[in-house]
Amino acid sequence: MHNIGIDLGGTKTEGILLDDNFEIIERKRVKTNQEKGYSSILELIKDLVDHLRQKTDQKTSLGICTPGALSKETGVIKNSNTQCLIGKDLKNDLENILNQEISIENDANCFALAESKLGAAKNFDVVFGVIMGTGVGGGIVIKEQIHNGRTNIAGEWGHHCIRPQGNSCYCGKKGCVETYLSGPALEKRWEEISGKQQSVSEIVLDLENKKNNNQYPRWKGEFLTNFGLALGNVIDILDPDAIVLGGGLSNIPFLYDDAKSSVYHRVFSDQIDTPILKNKLGDSAGVFGACMI
Ligand SMILES: [Zn+2]
Repeated sequence: MHNIGIDLGGTKTEGILLDDNFEIIERKRVKTNQEKGYSSILELIKDLVDHLRQKTDQKTSLGICTPGALSKETGVIKNSNTQCLIGKDLKNDLENILNQEISIENDANCFALAESKLGAAKNFDVVFGVIMGTGVGGGIVIKEQIHNGRTNIAGEWGHHCIRPQGNSCYCGKKGCVETYLSGPALEKRWEEISGKQQSVSEIVLDLENKKNNNQYPRWKGEFLTNFGLALGNVIDILDPDAIVLGGGLSNIPFLYDDAKSSVYHRVFSDQIDTPILKNKLGDSAGVFGACMI
């Protein structure tokens, strides 16, 4: 049996066809156009799956990696930053269109699973995967199995509170990790304290080059504190064997030294050496993970 995985992202959607050894037979990437609404997303997935099915004469499994979680009670999508998916029964609708049973998983869970099976966290039993990009998410994998939890929200790291009186979040709560550690949140904070509009990668580059602006240490200090709090909590509760970072912000070099120290500093333990690893599969983790669910 061959495996088809679809990674439905906010801006791009990727499809992949893998053989039994997870070797790539075919992959294709298209623009998502989420502003055209839910029906265009269904069409786009159907086109991709049809294309991939033509590349093999074997039976195929089909997994979809999507932002948001599936409600355990109703099956509809909740908590998605691709907002036209919220409240939709994507699994049922796709099964009807594609005439096949499918599996759907949250993108951070797919990321954690793929990195645990094939990537940076291979050979670690309990893995916490973190995505830091436009949004912030997390997933727990135990012995190569996703841990979903009683209500399908296990590992929803981006929306646990680190500051009860803090920033308002679209989810309705205050002080969520996502409102401090997402790309847009970090850029907004930089603009507040420096008056400048810059991307996170530009800010980090200036920091590395020791550009003379005394707001940089302040911005970085807050970043380190929030990152330390947010991952220190995870270690205190889950004590994973490894943490693997993904998403655009995982390219920031200081996450693996200064920020790691900030995490260790906040953990309730006399001895701490949890590896904090950069992902190995890059952008492909979601689509590989979708083939494995
Ligand atoms: Zn939130």
